[in-house]
Amino acid sequence: PTRADITYFGAGPAALPTDVLETAAQALLNYNNTGLGIAEHSHRSELATNIINEAKADLATFLDIPTDEYETIFMQAGGTGEFAASVYNLVGAWVARQHAAVLKELGADADEAKVVEALRKRVQSRLKLDYIVTGGWSLKAYQEAVRLLGPEYVNLAADARTINDGKFGKIPDQSTWKLSEDAALVYYCDNETVDGVEFPEFPSVLAPRADGSGPIVVADMSSNILSRRFPVRNYSLLFFGAQKNLGCTGVTVAVIKKSLLPPNTVQPTPTLLRKLGLPIPPIILQYETIAKNNSLYNTLSIFDVYIAGQVLKKLLRTFPDKVDGQQKVAEQKANLLYAALEAHPDVYRIVPDKSVRSKMNICFRVTKGGNIDEAEKAFLKEATSRGLTGLKGHRSVGGIRASNYNSIPLEGAQNLAKFIEDFAKA
Ligand code: PLP
Repeated sequence: PTRADITYFGAGPAALPTDVLETAAQALLNYNNTGLGIAEHSHRSELATNIINEAKADLATFLDIPTDEYETIFMQAGGTGEFAASVYNLVGAWVARQHAAVLKELGADADEAKVVEALRKRVQSRLKLDYIVTGGWSLKAYQEAVRLLGPEYVNLAADARTINDGKFGKIPDQSTWKLSEDAALVYYCDNETVDGVEFPEFPSVLAPRADGSGPIVVADMSSNILSRRFPVRNYSLLFFGAQKNLGCTGVTVAVIKKSLLPPNTVQPTPTLLRKLGLPIPPIILQYETIAKNNSLYNTLSIFDVYIAGQVLKKLLRTFPDKVDGQQKVAEQKANLLYAALEAHPDVYRIVPDKSVRSKMNICFRVTKGGNIDEAEKAFLKEATSRGLTGLKGHRSVGGIRASNYNSIPLEGAQNLAKFIEDFAKA
C-alpha cells in the first residue's frame, strides 16, 4: 500500500502529515539550498538556533504560553526521562526553598553544619512528592520517583485502581485525594495513552489560590498536547514527547515556570544533595542547565525540532483560532467514534468510564459472539483490509485502541466509524 491507502491509528509513534514529511525529506537532503541536509548541519549553527527559536515561539503562540513566565526546552530523554527529571528538578527546587527558609531562621551567617542539620531534618520530616495514578504511565512515573528517592518520600495520593476492581478506567473523586502539605510536586498524567483515560478538565483541587500560591503541579501531556486548551498558568511543569501530536520520536519538550529556574530558583549543589542523602541529577536532566543553553547543552537532534516546527506551522496555518480550532476537530472525531461504538453495546464495550474517556486514545473491547479473542482478531483483520491500521491495544491491556491524534483526518475517523458500524452489523 501507499501512504494514501492507509489511516494509521497507532498510539505512538503516530502518523505525520504527508506534506510535512515531503518538506522534511527535501530538507534532509538539502536544507534551504545550503547543499547540506538538516540532520548534518551543526546544532551550533545560526540556522539551528533559528529552528529552535521558531519552534518555541510557534508552540507558545498555538497554546498561548506566556513566554515571560515560562521557558520551553527541548530534551532527548523521552517521557520516561521526564519522570526522572521532574523528580530531580522539583526536589531540588523544594530543597532550595527550604534552604532559604533555614537561612532566614538561623541567620545568613549561620554555621554551615547547623544549616545542613536543619535541612536534613526538614527533608526527613517534610519532603513529599504526591502522585495521582490513573493509568499505566502515571504508575510508571510514580514507580520512578520511588526508585530514585525511596518510598518514604513518595505519596500515592490517589490510585484509580482502588475504585475500579483493580483496573484503570476511572478517576477517583478529587475530595478523596490525599495531598501532602507543601509537596515538592503533585504529579498527574493528563491523558493515559494505554488506558484511554483523560482528565476532562484541570483538577480544581490543584488550582492556584487567590494569592497566586498553590501546589506545584506537574503534568505529563505526552499524548494529548496540542489537542485541547488547558490553563497553562496552573502548571509549574508540563512535558511531552513529540511522537504523538508534535512530531517524530527523538525530542521531548518541557515547559517550566521561570520561578523554578535561575535566578529565581537555583538547584542545590551536588555536595549539599549528598549531605542530605538526596539523588544528584545527571546534568542532562537538569532543566536549568538545558534552559541556560537554549536546549543546546549537548547535541540536539535539530531534524526532530525542525519536524515539530513544521507541524506547528501547519497547525497555525490551519487553525486561525489556534488550539481551540484543533480541539473542536479532535472532539468531533472522538464523538463520531464513541457514538459508533455506543450504538452497538452488544458488540463493543468501551473500557474507561464515560466521564473520563480520552479523546485521543479510544480503548474498547469487541465482545461480538462472546469470544473476545476471536472477535478482536477478526476486527483487526477486517480493519486492516480497509486500510485502517495500528488499532491493536497496548500489550499490557489488550483490546482495541484507536488513537485519534491530530494527524488523523476527519475522513479517517469517519472511515473508522463506518467500519465499526459495518462490523457490528455483519
Ligand atoms: N507518557 C505517556 C502519556 C506516554 O504515552 C508515553 C509513551 O507512549 C510515555 C510517557 C513514555 O514516553 P517515551 O517512550 O518517550 O519515554
